[in-house]
Amino acid sequence: MKTGKEFIKTIFFVELIKGMAFTLKTLLFTPPVTRRYPNKVKVPAQPGFRGLHALAKNEEGKMKCVGCGLCGAYCPSKCIYIYTSEGEDHTKVVDRYEIETPRCIYCGFCVEACPFGAITLSEHYEYSTYSRDSLYMTKDKLLENWDKYFAGEKGKRYFRDFWRPKTTDFKGYEGQAMFKGNKNEK
Ligand code: SF4
Ligand code: SF4
Repeated sequence: MKTGKEFIKTIFFVELIKGMAFTLKTLLFTPPVTRRYPNKVKVPAQPGFRGLHALAKNEEGKMKCVGCGLCGAYCPSKCIYIYTSEGEDHTKVVDRYEIETPRCIYCGFCVEACPFGAITLSEHYEYSTYSRDSLYMTKDKLLENWDKYFAGEKGKRYFRDFWRPKTTDFKGYEGQAMFKGNKNEK
C-alpha cells in the first residue's frame, strides 16, 4: 500500500523527471571524456609496452644477431624466420631475419631467449595498416626500427626499467639482456 507522498510522486512522475534532469545536467555541463584518437590526441604507450620488434645494433652500428636461431625456436607462434649461410672466414652470416608480425602474440619470449640482446620489442604500437605485406618485417626494416626507437638516448629509459643483464642472475653470456615484466623488480 503506497503512502500519500509516494502516490503523489508516482502520478506526477517525480523520479522520472529527476532522472531526466540529471541526464540533461550531465549532457550540458560535464565535459566529454572521449579522446579523439588519433586525429587530435596521441595516446602514449604504457612504459614497457611490447610493441614493434627491432634488431639491435652494437656501438659500431653492426647487427648484434649472430643467427643462432634460439629466438625462432622459443617463439610460440613460429613467426620468426632466419636464413643463414657460411661467410668467407667460416662465420655464420645472417642473410635474412624476418618476423611475420600479424602472427606475433608479443609474449617477449624471443627477447628473453636471445643470448646476445639482439632482438627487442619497442614501445611503438601505431603501425596498423591495410596492407599485410607492410607488416612483414624484414632484416632491413627491423634494423631501421632500432634506429627509430632505441638508438642513442631513445632506448635508455626502456633498457633501464625493463631490461637487466641476465649475467647477474644466471651467469650467462656477458651483455645478455632480459625483459623485465615488473619495472620495480630489480
Ligand atoms: S614476441 Fe613472442 S610471438 Fe612474437 S616473435 Fe617474439 S616469441 Fe614470437
Ligand atoms: S636474435 Fe638472438 S636468438 Fe635470435 S637468432 Fe639472433 S642472436 Fe640468435
